[in-house]
Formats: sequence, C-alpha cells, structure tokens
Amino acid sequence: MRDPFGRPITYLRLAVTDRCNLRCRYCVPEECGPAGGAVLSGEALVEIARQAVLCGVKKIRLTGGEPLVRRDIAALCRSIADLEGLEELCITTNGTALETLAGPLREAGVDRLNVSLDSLRPQRYAALTRGGRLEDVLEGLRAAERAGFTGTKLNVVLLRGVNQDEIPDFVDLTRRFPLEVRFIELMPIGEGARGDFLPAGEVLQQCPDLVPAGSGGVARRYRLPGAPGLTGLITPMSCRFCADCDRIRVTADGMLKPCLHSEREIDLRGLTGEALRQAIASGAAAKPERHYLAETGHSGAGRTMNRIGG
Ligand code: SAM
Repeated sequence: MRDPFGRPITYLRLAVTDRCNLRCRYCVPEECGPAGGAVLSGEALVEIARQAVLCGVKKIRLTGGEPLVRRDIAALCRSIADLEGLEELCITTNGTALETLAGPLREAGVDRLNVSLDSLRPQRYAALTRGGRLEDVLEGLRAAERAGFTGTKLNVVLLRGVNQDEIPDFVDLTRRFPLEVRFIELMPIGEGARGDFLPAGEVLQQCPDLVPAGSGGVARRYRLPGAPGLTGLITPMSCRFCADCDRIRVTADGMLKPCLHSEREIDLRGLTGEALRQAIASGAAAKPERHYLAETGHSGAGRTMNRIGG
C-alpha cells in the first residue's frame, strides 16, 4: 500500500479505547466525559488489524486512551499478534498497570512497549497527570523487564517551565539502563495548544556530550559515550518528518485518520473483509503530503489526543 506521494504505508496505530486512568494536563481535558462514539468491540478491532495486515501493514501499535484499561487487552493482543504477516506488535502505555499486565502481554505476543513518563519527581508527576503515582510506573517498568521485554522506550513530552529541568536526569537514565529515552515536542492539539512548547534542541544544549547515533523511525538518535541506552528526539514542530510518514491511525470509535493533523476521517464502522480493505486503502490514498503545524501554530486534528490515539 502506497500513498499518492509514493510513501509505503506499513504502520497502523490502533486506538483500543478513549478512556484513560490518568488526566495528563496537556492531553486530556480536565472535564472529560465519555467520548462521542462507541468504542469498537474486540472482534471489530481484530478485523481492522487483520485487513490492515492484508493491505500491507507490518507493524501495529495499540494506543488510546490508555490501552491497558481494556479488560480484554491480553486476549486482544494475542489475536492480533497471531495475524500472519504482522512483524511487530507494540503498545504505548502510561505504564501504571504494567505491574500486573506486563507478563500476560508478553505471553500474548506483544513485542515492545513505549512507556510515557514526563517527570521523575513524584509530586510533579502527580500534578502533571492529575493524580498519577510515579511509583506505579517505575514498578511497571521493572515488571516489564522481568517479563522479558527489551527495547522499551520512554516517551517524555518536553514542557517548557514544567519538566525542562529534568532533561539531564532523563538522559542520565540511558547511562544506567539499555532504554531509549525519547523527547517529544509538544504538538498544538487540544490541551497541548496552550503554550508550553519547548524545541527538542534544548536537549542537545543541556546535554552537550550526546553524540549522533543515526535514526530510529521518526527519531533522531544520540548516545552518551559508553552508555547502553539511547536518547531520541522527535521533532514534529521544529523539523517535521512527513516525508518519512508510513502510518495511518484508527480511533477507538472506528474512524481512520490518514494524518494526525487533518480533520479528514474515514468511517470503518461495520465494515469487514474486502469492503474494509478498500476503506483502509482509501485512507492511505487520502494522506496529505505534509502537515502545517509550524506555519499555522495549530493542528487540524479535530479531536483531543486521548480521543485520537497518540
Ligand atoms: N495512555 C497511553 C500513554 O500514556 O502513553 C497512550 C495514549 S497517549 C495519548 C500517547 C502519547 O501521546 C503519550 O506519550 C503522550 O505523552 C503523547 N501526547 C499526548 N498529547 C500530546 C501532544 N499534544 N503533543 C505531543 N505528544 C502528546
């Protein structure tokens, strides 16, 4: 499956819920009632994954909302991991439920985890997430390691005046653990449009010992000399990577988004088999060449991040 600009589309981000047990202040609105559409059933999610793989998708990331709040998450992962032709199944999670779920997810065939963590200070973490406990995430990371997960990535959204003083602490983790710490620029989507943006170049200014170490997906990678871990910079604002975009997204209520920053959505609800494949292919065909975040200062996403799937 290629889009009109010749980009191979091989990566699906599939939101499995729009609910989250945290309320990160740049992501989830404070007053957050139930979202508009009904969340897809496990069966419908597996059918979307199956048809996407038949269309050429090689990698699927489950996201949300918080994917681990779904009670059937392990069974769902097992059904998706078993799809012939799928090369990688990943989950993006806030990590708070990994202590109990890391083992079952690993057994179900999940290959890799991205864990979102924006502060290493308990009080700050609680304030940022409106009530989260840092210790739950740290325990979850330990459980992931015990369960056999490798290549875990930590996602850190850079927030001016909020966590910029923790950049060296996060980078320092890569000296001690074989993790990739990925600093992500805040995008002006929903609550993220309120002005805490900090360019990722700040990381290189604060940590001048980092040396380039190639690229990994959309991240530019760096390493501290001798460190087992990596530091990644993801720069949707200061240096867009649309030319390498290989992804489509499906929201938890069954809408395919060809581009994160476009309002365009294709309704997949109720479709199966050939009709679903055609709809997925039409999503790839509808990908715009690029986004205009930096020029316009706002995203056309039309939904908050927790209702798209980050
Ligand atoms: N609940 C899961 C988690 O916490 O990772 C998955 C969903 S969350 C929406 C996925 C990722 O999107 C998180 O790493 C979060 O920090 C990131 N995110 C949310 N809003 C963002 C924004 N405006 N700009 C950049 N990243 C954002």
